[in-house]
Amino acid sequence: MSSAAAEPDFDVIVVGGGPAGSVTAYLLAQQGLSVVLIERGEAPGAKNLSGGVLYGRVLDEVFPGFAQSAPVERRITRHVTTFLTGDSSVSLDYAGGPLAEPVNAVTVLRARFDPWLAERAEEAGVFLMPGVRVDSLLREDTPAGPQVVGVRAGDDELRARVVVAADGVNSFLARSIGLRPQPPTHHLAVGVKAVVSLPRTVIEDRFAVSGDQGAAHAIVGDCTLGIGGGGFLYTNTESLSVGVVLRLDDLVKHGRTAAEVFEHYLSHPVLEPYLRGGEIVEYGSHLVAEGGLEMLGQIVTGGMVVVGEAAGLTINSGLTVRGMDLAIGSAVAAAKGIGEAIAAQDVTATGLAAYRRHLDESFVVKDLRTYARAPKFLERPRMYGAYGELAAGLFRDVFRLDGSPRKHLAAVARDSFRRSAVSVRDLVSDGWAGVRAL
Ligand SMILES: Cc1cc2nc3c(=O)[nH]c(=O)nc-3n(C[C@H](O)[C@H](O)[C@H](O)COP(=O)(O)OP(=O)(O)OC[C@H]3O[C@@H](n4cnc5c(N)ncnc54)[C@H](O)[C@@H]3O)c2cc1C
Repeated sequence: MSSAAAEPDFDVIVVGGGPAGSVTAYLLAQQGLSVVLIERGEAPGAKNLSGGVLYGRVLDEVFPGFAQSAPVERRITRHVTTFLTGDSSVSLDYAGGPLAEPVNAVTVLRARFDPWLAERAEEAGVFLMPGVRVDSLLREDTPAGPQVVGVRAGDDELRARVVVAADGVNSFLARSIGLRPQPPTHHLAVGVKAVVSLPRTVIEDRFAVSGDQGAAHAIVGDCTLGIGGGGFLYTNTESLSVGVVLRLDDLVKHGRTAAEVFEHYLSHPVLEPYLRGGEIVEYGSHLVAEGGLEMLGQIVTGGMVVVGEAAGLTINSGLTVRGMDLAIGSAVAAAKGIGEAIAAQDVTATGLAAYRRHLDESFVVKDLRTYARAPKFLERPRMYGAYGELAAGLFRDVFRLDGSPRKHLAAVARDSFRRSAVSVRDLVSDGWAGVRAL
């Protein structure tokens, strides 16, 4: 730490060109502040991976009508939730007009979507520096105490009034300054995803959608070989995004690798027909924050704030995985808070605390609170095996006529419970916990 004061090169340095970083940079530039956006990838999006369903309401507030101009793939008009066993599946399929509004949820491919966001920031006056990795923070002693005053990248130093850490789930910057401890493994998941190209008409036939409509499948059970987590299958215009998200502690406990589980998922007899004939054009693996509200720790220090997944902002409710909209929501709160702190000439932790207040008032923290019990609930192992078996057994007995006398539904259900590892007591206890958590 040095004590020499020097003029800042920019008002704000934003590190990370994902949704959190680009939107923060855009909104700050709109306030007339000088902003640099530093991204280690050759271009924004080059190093990013995401399942791909973006809940768009908050982005529409930043860029009204974004769904008409941004590179979005399809509007999600159908949500399918599936319990999978080794050879069968039970699904709940919701398709509906109310979902057709384009800002509700769309699929995006990050290699196209992130550059679009960064271009909007550049248009607003942000100076984009791609292909540069920030190595460390510059800190100085000031009369107000130790303060972040810039970043170091290789031999170069850049100084600013405020640094924004938008560097994703691993956030080296937040950890290097002690803002975030290494999360426990049950708060982290590993995501493996592939993009599988298929002709547009094939996708529309297989998923029963047309035009720019799309489907999002959330799958639990045998797709993860009983490991906590789930699978997803989303339609893009001429490709599918398919992947698994696996809780790290459970993956290790089962002695499996993520690649192994993903291979099993791709070849599952229920999934394979959707992918048949497709070609894998993109493949990657990435960590995902899964701890919900518990992962949101300290996000402000003197001269620096933390946004997006760097701040632990994701919600996995089992039915939906959300990170991008929360990242954008935190960007909106951060831009307001930083703007106010700079205007008041107080970028100490006290001045920048305005960001935390705006975040607490926003849908981001409200939704994290609503789903605060979800991570614990989703740790129950029955979710990933026994319930799928129970449901599949019940429906098999309802639909299979094998010559023996038929039984009423109540008796069929009783038989299914007798065969299952789930007791009625488990069902009531999990049902009650689920209703309160999800
Ligand atoms: C398999 C998978 C499926 C997912 N599915 C969904 C989904 O369907 N919907 C959803 O909303 N969310 C989903 N998520 C979560 C979502 O991807 C993240 O929450 C979101 O990307 C967070 O945005 P961000 O801007 O905070 O961080 P990121 O998008 O991770 O961006 C961080 C950026 O910082 C850059 N960076 C990192 N370190 C440095 C450095 N030292 N110097 C310079 N640049 C740096 C990186 O290259 C990157 O571009 C999924 C995640 C995974 C892994």
